Amino acid sequence: MRFSHSLSKTPFLAPIMASGLESGSASLMWFRKGLRIHDNPALEYASRGSKCVYPVFVIDPHYMEPDPTAFSPGSTLAGLNRIRFLLESLVDLDLSSKRLGSKLLILKGEPSEVVIRCLKEWDIKKLCFEYDTDPYYLALDKKVKDYASTAGIEVFSPVSHTLFNPVDIIQKNGGRPPLSYQSFLKLAGQPSWASSPLSISISSLPPVGDVGSCEITGVPTVEELGYRDYEKDELTPFRGGESEALKRLRESISNKEWVANFEKPKGDPSAYVNPATTVLSPYLKFGCLSSRYFYQCLSDVYKTVKKHTSPPVSLLGQLLWRDFFYTVAFGTPNFDQMKGNRICKQIPWNTDDELLVAWREARTGYPWIDAIMVQLHKWGWMHHLARHCVACFLTRGDLFVHWEKGRDVFERLLIDSDWAINNGNWMWLSCSSFFYQYNRIYSPVSFAKKFDPNGNYVRHFLPVLKDMPKQYIYEPWTAPLSVQSKAKCIIGRDYPKPVVSHDSASKECKRKLGEAYALNQKLNGQVSEEDLKNLRRKLEEDKEQESRRQRQKLTG
Ligand code: FAD
Repeated sequence: MRFSHSLSKTPFLAPIMASGLESGSASLMWFRKGLRIHDNPALEYASRGSKCVYPVFVIDPHYMEPDPTAFSPGSTLAGLNRIRFLLESLVDLDLSSKRLGSKLLILKGEPSEVVIRCLKEWDIKKLCFEYDTDPYYLALDKKVKDYASTAGIEVFSPVSHTLFNPVDIIQKNGGRPPLSYQSFLKLAGQPSWASSPLSISISSLPPVGDVGSCEITGVPTVEELGYRDYEKDELTPFRGGESEALKRLRESISNKEWVANFEKPKGDPSAYVNPATTVLSPYLKFGCLSSRYFYQCLSDVYKTVKKHTSPPVSLLGQLLWRDFFYTVAFGTPNFDQMKGNRICKQIPWNTDDELLVAWREARTGYPWIDAIMVQLHKWGWMHHLARHCVACFLTRGDLFVHWEKGRDVFERLLIDSDWAINNGNWMWLSCSSFFYQYNRIYSPVSFAKKFDPNGNYVRHFLPVLKDMPKQYIYEPWTAPLSVQSKAKCIIGRDYPKPVVSHDSASKECKRKLGEAYALNQKLNGQVSEEDLKNLRRKLEEDKEQESRRQRQKLTG
């Protein structure tokens, strides 16, 4: 048995799995997420008893090729940072596959059409791919599975992206997803696979068969995809791939005390040199890291320490949040929109593009908010509480812009952008679902001060404010003009004035949410478009009346 794969060097790996017999027929391993060798049951099954395995990744031009009309460098669907992260992950997977006697075959086109063409051309008898609950993949997989069943091809599509199968949890709950984390935990219990060690490493893979006339390429570079004029220093410091994921995981869990004492709400969102959390989310998103393996490693650490934190705040608890959102998302029709979504409160959000663009382009005039948005553009990753702050600010905290608009911006720019988690958290932060205490609003000024009184995070991501004295760093518009001049940053010229006054805007948001909640309660959630329109009109009239009253007071 060969031990050529680099994983075998790591001390905490489970025993090596034998590869398949080299007789049998041809299998196709379709990689989409799950870009890894370790704990990959689809790859394991594809290899078992197969004469050859075709490991395929299909580049969907829609996802990868430049769209010059998009608001940031990237394709129609994804920002350049995530595209690059994906390409790096593919390069890494190709290298690991080569060490195991195989290689990654890259094809281009509409994925289901390409896969069906390959199934025919290569006379495939077994098609394997990781099960995916995202609506995009459910639709794609149906087309491919339909073809496979008519052609008599065996399909193996195991659940290995999440700890649990959302279908099982929903079934246990009588056909509906649990809507609270605690009820999810009760239903979920221990994952069934956790009683024995996972299969972590492969000694070799069956060879790739003859590819015939199919057009195969290597992993393209971003330049080869057509990206030319982008700022290299705007790119994320996080490198894609399974090797990097396992290295990061090892670093995180080697500090047992840190793992044992991890408490999510206590982390510092402004820590950027050494982030307060693992930054494993982009690796989990693309499946460069198996969430099950992460879970197993954390459980192993817990066994060796006297005491450790528990869900929801523990590190293992974070992974369970991930599964919670996957389960609710899978069991909720229209989960990614307000309309027709039974778990989402109907709220008369505005669709003010000017405010949205100011937020998106880091021009709100609130340095804490703008610095986070710059980190999003440049790194594609921010700390969880930083995400809280900007999502709250855009929606229920200050600007009252529809959560779907903010979701779209995150979906494009995050390197860990994840359909279930992103939508779930946007509903949470906008008080549309899961969390309803709309009177608790993050202050864009005082919240960050307690973590970072000197404003180092702001100075780093907004260098225009780097010389602003610390007492004004979060409210630079209050600095006397002489101070602004000395700091070479005149507010209104070099850095914007605040787009709204937080005090009055947040009061206004609370009032609107109060009325919207009352309407949702009165109509038992059955709020129509017409009802929302009427509420919007009423809120505007109330606001006008209030300003008239204020004006009258002033003029006596
Ligand atoms: P750690 O704290 O180290 O946690 C380990 C893992 O647990 C994470 O990698 C992630 O997979 C999971 N996890 C942690 N927090 C959450 C959570 N609240 N919900 C679900 N899973 C969680 N996370 C994404 O992966 N993709 C997204 O698109 C995404 N969008 C978000 C949008 C908003 C508005 C908010 C408030 C949060 C969003 N999150 C998203 C959740 C969370 O912020 C990130 O998962 C986390 O910050 C990633 O950093 P980490 O890997 O260092 O997390």
